[in-house]
Amino acid sequence: MNRLDGKVCVVTGAASGIGKRIAEVYAAAGGKVVIADLKLDAAEATATEIRDAGGDALAVAMDVTDEAQVVDGIAKAVAHYGRIDVLVSNAGIQIVNKLTDFSYADWKKMLAIHLDGAFLTTRECLRDMETRGTGGAIIYMGSVHSHTASKLKAPYVTAKHGLLGLARTVAKEAAAYGVRANVICPGFVRTPLVDKQIPEQAKELGISEDEVIRNVMLKDTVDGEFTTVDDVAAVALTLAAFETNALTGQSIVVSHGWFMQ
Ligand code: NAD
Repeated sequence: MNRLDGKVCVVTGAASGIGKRIAEVYAAAGGKVVIADLKLDAAEATATEIRDAGGDALAVAMDVTDEAQVVDGIAKAVAHYGRIDVLVSNAGIQIVNKLTDFSYADWKKMLAIHLDGAFLTTRECLRDMETRGTGGAIIYMGSVHSHTASKLKAPYVTAKHGLLGLARTVAKEAAAYGVRANVICPGFVRTPLVDKQIPEQAKELGISEDEVIRNVMLKDTVDGEFTTVDDVAAVALTLAAFETNALTGQSIVVSHGWFMQ
């Protein structure tokens, strides 16, 4: 079984959805988890749940687009646990709109959360990993949209493709320090992020919510099923626990066959 005994794992956006489940699974595997989220109350609640279940967790307030908050949040994690071994750059949002209707502000907001956030958290965690020289793992939450496109999602698709480039660069630059960088690319997972866009897409596309699920979200899967937070967390655990540079610079698609590489 994959174990993370004593490893310090920062998970951004860990107060909800995929990030929350990854934090729980990491804690159950012996990791010390840092719940970094915009919403401190929800992050504290997640950390409390993990501690109540016998795990070790620290909640940290962090807007991943704010350089000072990222620097401060990672410093707090290092002060508390002494080191960072694993980063899961997961915080994200979705805004759906036709490209011609997208405001510049929404475009910049999307790229800031998905790309600036990934850069800032990577830089701070990597600085700690390189200083200690004992290796580590950096995992980006990409998407099937790191490899393909859908209507109404221009900035999301652009940002998720961008994460592949960041991961490959980090894999090359950080290999000397034993740090691996990979991307997980999930299909649709029923989290608040997806629940919000079902009615939005139905309205934009002029179809029912059921049709959005069946004919848009799950149309190209092999079995018409959603990917689950457990599916994604299992891949995140494998990537965090993997011990050599053999598995680096990759993207792993977990999508019920929606996208096949
Ligand atoms: P979610 O809405 O359940 O959780 C996202 C979390 O990120 C929330 O706790 C939110 O507070 C936090 N967050 C948002 N902006 C932040 C910021 N600026 N700084 C720090 N935290 C912030 O969403 P989810 O579905 O669990 O999505 C998590 C990641 O998985 C995202 O990157 C998303 O793009 C990706 N993803 C989701 C799906 C899906 O179908 N749900 C599929 C592929 C990829």
